[in-house]
Amino acid sequence: MTSAPIPVFDGHNDVLLRLFNDGGSDVAIQSFLKGSAGGHLDLPRARQGGLVGGLFAIFPPSPAMADFMELMQGEGYDLPLPEPLQLSDGQASTLAMASILFRIERASDGAVAVCRSVADIRAAMSRGALATVLHIEGAEAIDGNLAMLDVLHAAGLRSIGPVWSRPNIFGHGVPMRYPGSPDTGPGLTERGFDLIRACNRLGILIDLSHLNERGFWDVVEASDAPLVATHSNVHAICPVSRNLSDAQFEAIRASKGVVGLNYATAFLRPDGHMDADTGLDVMIRHLDAMLERLGEHGVALGSDYDGAVVPEAIGDVSLLPRLIEAMQAHGYGDDLIRRIAVENWLDVLGRTWKD
Ligand code: ZN
Repeated sequence: MTSAPIPVFDGHNDVLLRLFNDGGSDVAIQSFLKGSAGGHLDLPRARQGGLVGGLFAIFPPSPAMADFMELMQGEGYDLPLPEPLQLSDGQASTLAMASILFRIERASDGAVAVCRSVADIRAAMSRGALATVLHIEGAEAIDGNLAMLDVLHAAGLRSIGPVWSRPNIFGHGVPMRYPGSPDTGPGLTERGFDLIRACNRLGILIDLSHLNERGFWDVVEASDAPLVATHSNVHAICPVSRNLSDAQFEAIRASKGVVGLNYATAFLRPDGHMDADTGLDVMIRHLDAMLERLGEHGVALGSDYDGAVVPEAIGDVSLLPRLIEAMQAHGYGDDLIRRIAVENWLDVLGRTWKD
């Protein structure tokens, strides 16, 4: 069969961090637009694999991040939460990564669009442009008075994870722990509650993926928007602290929210190993379990491309059709696949955003 690949809108990738780590120069920007051998995601490979858009994360790195993935190895691990970042450091890296995305858009000749509404996303998709949405993973750039929140929202920010797995003025985050429960300590601070209410007012999506269980329930209490975890899996299958308990899935379903399947093998495999030699069958197992817990309108994709070790068979974004084929082979119909691959994201964004 030579038909066009089924379009995929993705809940989470870290390509902006990769380009930032590559120096963020025009060379890095051209490597995204023209393609490069390294990493998981660039424009030519997105086109090849049918990736039509997604949430592009800005993650302000901690100083000692380099060996982080190495520590998540072996039969079990329990990483301490990294130290809090200074506001000035959070702002410097956040603004640098936002700038990378805006420069990509400018240099792309219309091939990449920064989208601020679902209408923007659909328009980009229909003209064949990559529909990108600015997302923050760890709100370290935002001050306690939330002045920067207004500025970033005006620039196009439409999604925030209040914390990465690290404490900040808004909350505590979930440490990387295998095996481990997401219930690891205190959740949101008072300022965290203020941030959630401000996001509701502005129509910014709140991402639950790196909150611990207490923080999750704090958002349930404070937020009037659908509950969304952009890149998390099923704790009952892979008992890592980053995955969601059945009680969390129930709350997400009750809010008509969405969870994006994370392709990180450390969050897929029952043994928690970070190992590219992992079949797609375990992804289907998580999708089945998510469908059972959330229903057909609650399940989507959240790759973690450029931020994790993913199964070799879908080792970069050009190989996404293999995941679609695995869903087809497992008996998912075209309507369900379309919902998981694209429509459930657009639907929940439309019910969250105010633009
Ligand atoms: Zn993440």
